[in-house]
Amino acid sequence: MKILVVNCGSSSIKYQLFNMEDESVLAKGLLERIGLEGSVLTHQPAGKEKVVINGDVENHSVGIKLVLDALTDPSHGVIKSMKEIDAVGHRVVHGAERFADSVLITPQVMDALEECIQMAPLHNPPNILGINACTELMPGVPQVGVFDTAFHQTMPKHAFLYGLPYEAYEKYGLRRYGFHGTSHRYVSQRAAELMQEHMTNLRIITCHLGNGASIAAVKHGKSVDTSMGFTPLEGLVMGTRSGAIDPAIIPFLMKKEGMTPEQIDNYLNKKSGVLGLSGISSDFRDIEEAAKDGNERAQLALEIFAYTVRKFIGSYAAAMGGVDAIVFTAGLGENSIAMRDKICLGLEFLGTRIDPVKNNVRGKAAEISVDGAKVKIFVIPTNEELVIARDTKEICANLV
Ligand code: AMP
Repeated sequence: MKILVVNCGSSSIKYQLFNMEDESVLAKGLLERIGLEGSVLTHQPAGKEKVVINGDVENHSVGIKLVLDALTDPSHGVIKSMKEIDAVGHRVVHGAERFADSVLITPQVMDALEECIQMAPLHNPPNILGINACTELMPGVPQVGVFDTAFHQTMPKHAFLYGLPYEAYEKYGLRRYGFHGTSHRYVSQRAAELMQEHMTNLRIITCHLGNGASIAAVKHGKSVDTSMGFTPLEGLVMGTRSGAIDPAIIPFLMKKEGMTPEQIDNYLNKKSGVLGLSGISSDFRDIEEAAKDGNERAQLALEIFAYTVRKFIGSYAAAMGGVDAIVFTAGLGENSIAMRDKICLGLEFLGTRIDPVKNNVRGKAAEISVDGAKVKIFVIPTNEELVIARDTKEICANLV
């Protein structure tokens, strides 16, 4: 069975084609600058040279067509015809309370996705465009939606409700939804495998630390709390997002600076986080470099980030009545030895410590806590695409 995994952003399409017999990736790629001049498709067939295809791609439908052409091209393609694709799995950002699991795309599901647009006005529309493009270009091929929010639907009400009048939840669905759920699900399951324990016996804190960053408390295999909220802006200080702030700052700034709602949204989502704090970059590599050279604001940004992560780890240990494992994943979590060290310094009270020798690892699964530590610390590379492919396979296998 061959499954195409598609992740549509507002101006990009990321894709991977899986052979599910052995879960190998036959090809993967990224199309950027959709709807802009100078679109670029970078296509990587397994075991062959990378191919760069330039052109103007006016919309997602043209983009998906370009991807399918690349996959079936006689020289750099990996399949003979589109007919070899048995199913398509889509990453969908927001499923609100409608979707607690991955789902086969039907006209009813599409209606529900349209309704979810108000929750994720930036993210869900391109996801819908991608699904529509595949429906048009691959009629009859089953499609599955895998939601970033789904894994967190197990959160209890006391964890997901804000201290707002209850009517705000009833009327507008204002509550914590959480994101990166596919990643938190994958790495928590991998941690249980590495510990050779059943998920139902474990309390795991998963730290997805990338440009967007979130932490989840996974108790007995279920997400019971997570740091992102109604939108992916809440929680940790991130690359360009502020994370949690006193909400009174918003009207204050709007009055003082004469900002519109769109401008304050942009300020909090694009100009804040470690970029705003350091004044250097949103990329932790640049900030770590500047900090090493003695830049005080860069040092402060790193300290604030590490402190916030450490506070969440402490609070989630309290939320679960203890913790058995802490997992680091995503760009920063998988690669920054220094940041993992900084975060864990001060967690000894939980019964854990990083082993500096074992921590000298990048981008591969490893236990990095000292031998015999009560709480294990892991680095586990995330693989959201594989989860999407597996869910798609499972759902499509049950179709008659
Ligand atoms: P992601 O959003 O998961 O792709 O993560 C991207 C972020 O990971 C980048 O913006 C960097 O800040 C961070 N990152 C990736 N590699 C490294 C590294 N070797 N050291 C420090 N940070 C890294």
